[in-house]
Amino acid sequence: MELRFSPLFSGSSGNATYVGCDDAHILVDAGLSGTRIINELKQVGVDPASLSGILVTHEHIDHIKGIGILSRKFDLPVYATEGTWRGMEGKIGAVASRNMRVFEPERDFFIGSIDVTPFPTPHDAAQPVGYTFEIAGAKLAIATDLGSVRDSWLKHIVGADAVILESNFDPGMLQTGPYPFELKKRIMGKRGHLSNDDAGEVAAELVRGGARQIVLGHLSKENNYPELALKCCELALRQEGFDPEADVRVIVASRDGNSGMFSVRSELRFQ
Ligand SMILES: [Zn+2]
Ligand SMILES: [Zn+2]
Repeated sequence: MELRFSPLFSGSSGNATYVGCDDAHILVDAGLSGTRIINELKQVGVDPASLSGILVTHEHIDHIKGIGILSRKFDLPVYATEGTWRGMEGKIGAVASRNMRVFEPERDFFIGSIDVTPFPTPHDAAQPVGYTFEIAGAKLAIATDLGSVRDSWLKHIVGADAVILESNFDPGMLQTGPYPFELKKRIMGKRGHLSNDDAGEVAAELVRGGARQIVLGHLSKENNYPELALKCCELALRQEGFDPEADVRVIVASRDGNSGMFSVRSELRFQ
């Protein structure tokens, strides 16, 4: 069975990603209005009524804005850590108790044929996670809102065939930009967001581990440009001896709409 994904929205103004196969249709985060997410799902050929559930990474508003609405409208289970559920209290309206699913990081579970593994991230939220999705040897990872490069999450995503990877800010733009000092400190801190330089370093690890598709995501509107994030990643890959065109496909997820539908294919690596 084929594992597919589509970044629907990606950035500090709202995040949502579709992940699915023939028997499961998952939304990872719903950080925009229900209407915008429904429209975007239709754009990529997914019937919102066919969704199996919503997985939440953490309780920041750019990840949860539409969760309550979508869960109520389509009677969807919502999956989150205990800490994230606490953090969402009062922010998403009522979710039917039968639809409140709690999981523990690093314990995998199945939605249809998709093996979902949540893994902890060092982001500044109650109990944030990223996710990997596996089906028939093909593996996708979603790793945004990371904070800093750590083995605790890197070990989960190295080996994935496709990765949505945070490339939030250009350090120079952030330092000289308009944000107040405290906010700059938060973003650059160990529990904030990943810089373009960090993403480049991680991308090289991923390609070394067999990744063939890297989608740079969660770009800052004020402190980054898509072209800059892409160039920075390509440079890091070249420095590590990879050819960014032949060895891997790197794209930047768009902020305001879907970036297309992608198929995750496992490579035959041991011939
Ligand atoms: Zn966040
Ligand atoms: Zn975020």
